[in-house]
Amino acid sequence: MQAYILEIFYLIASVTFIVGIKMLNNPDSARKGNLVSAAGMTLAVLNTIFLYSNSEGKHIGNYTWIISGIILGAVIGTLMAKKVKITAMPQMVSLFNGVGALCVAIISYVEFSHYSEHFSSLTQTAGNHSNLFNGTVITILLGAIIGSISFSGSVIAWGKLEGKIKDLQFPMHQLLNIIILIAIVITAVLIMSSDTASVKLMLILAGLALLYGVLFVFPIGGADMPVVISLLNSFTGVAAACGGFLYNNSVMLTGGILVGSSGTILTILMCKAMNRSLTNVIIGSWSSPAAKKSAEGGEQRSVKEISIQDAAILMSYSKKVIIVPGYGLAVAQAQHTCYELDKLLEEKGVEVTYAIHPVAGRMPGHMNVLLAEADVPYPKLLEMEEVNPEFASTDVVLVLGANDVINPAAHNDPSSPIYGMPILEVENAKNIIINKRGMAAGYAGIDNELFYNDKTKMLFGDAKAVLQKLIAEVKAN
Ligand code: NDP
Repeated sequence: MQAYILEIFYLIASVTFIVGIKMLNNPDSARKGNLVSAAGMTLAVLNTIFLYSNSEGKHIGNYTWIISGIILGAVIGTLMAKKVKITAMPQMVSLFNGVGALCVAIISYVEFSHYSEHFSSLTQTAGNHSNLFNGTVITILLGAIIGSISFSGSVIAWGKLEGKIKDLQFPMHQLLNIIILIAIVITAVLIMSSDTASVKLMLILAGLALLYGVLFVFPIGGADMPVVISLLNSFTGVAAACGGFLYNNSVMLTGGILVGSSGTILTILMCKAMNRSLTNVIIGSWSSPAAKKSAEGGEQRSVKEISIQDAAILMSYSKKVIIVPGYGLAVAQAQHTCYELDKLLEEKGVEVTYAIHPVAGRMPGHMNVLLAEADVPYPKLLEMEEVNPEFASTDVVLVLGANDVINPAAHNDPSSPIYGMPILEVENAKNIIINKRGMAAGYAGIDNELFYNDKTKMLFGDAKAVLQKLIAEVKAN
């Protein structure tokens, strides 16, 4: 009876995951969507702890350990989430993703040792066919491999986003990655075809998978990080789904499949947005540090500046203004001030919209979330494909803390690490005003030709302070 009740709770939890994800579609319902899914997960976890029993009717037990673990994890997670700055969210997501992956990898290694006692019978249940087709063994190995790759990859991604780990690429890096991948497959096949559960082989497999995770993320640099983050996220989902198969647990399976599939869709969308191939992501082969260095080494050139007064007048007397938000706007937390300026300009009859690049900021959808926080109406946010044809008929483009996503090197410079990435084509506008604090590079670490364009005027200063001054000037006009 308890088993049936548990299955019903699992079904309810699975539905909350799907409803929650659907609600994330819109900034207005996203917060509630998160809560709905979290409630479903709580339901699934608590009921598993108290209602689950094995075929001999034995309950899970170990309640002190389990509840202590939950309390410790919940306290650490809550403190981290409360303390984290919005601009450091990707690092935290990466770390949490890594922890999830580590959890699945540990489950796989522990289950491997559990199964080791009757391993030979397990590997032979496939009878005369082949040991390779034993579902349990395959699931354990897949969970171990994917979980380990995702764990070590996520830790490296976290280090890179924190600025603690530099891009690293050495000669034959790609070839080494391919060799390690082949070695992983061979070791897994050896384990599957062995009569005994070889802990030694399993340790070799773990080592290879961890090494692969490190090596494939190491060379990925600058603008390409969003793709690798969503790929690692989908890996963790697939690894969790393996856990669901292993335990015949429907909610773990549904959760894993949802994370795996949404992560994969996001990865494909990101690849498209960055004009990268998925194969290249998996064997880790972009953004050679050499290309990056050559771009950094450019000589000092002069830029033209514009005063707050002139910028305010130019925008006040324009017909059409497009605002390009970027990472700097998030750093300055200037989204509310930005919308205030937008409303003032609209009162003066200026049409104001926002150009949203898919990788602007530091996490997928960062700019959408940021502007939604300030209640900027969603229809004002134009995606890249929609807004690019609009720039030619735009009087002023106001760039607020964006850099890589407007860098023409993505179109013009084959040696640039961001070459091939679609960008917001702001250079087609009649006037370009770029706000940033100085001449520092963006995430990709490269110079931006647009700053030296004849139509470009720099408006230096912190985005929030500059916007406040602009508001005062526009009001005075
Ligand atoms: P960039 O990182 O290219 O540039 C941000 C610019 O903002 C900097 O040049 C900086 O210049 C300026 N800035 C920083 N603080 C302020 C401030 N307080 N006020 C005004 N300006 C400020 O940002 P983009 O949004 O253009 O591009 C995002 C980059 O991040 C891409 O390369 C993307 O690939 C990468 N990335 C994106 C992720 C995602 O999922 N979206 C995840 C990981 C990386 P200065 O210091 O001179 O002010």
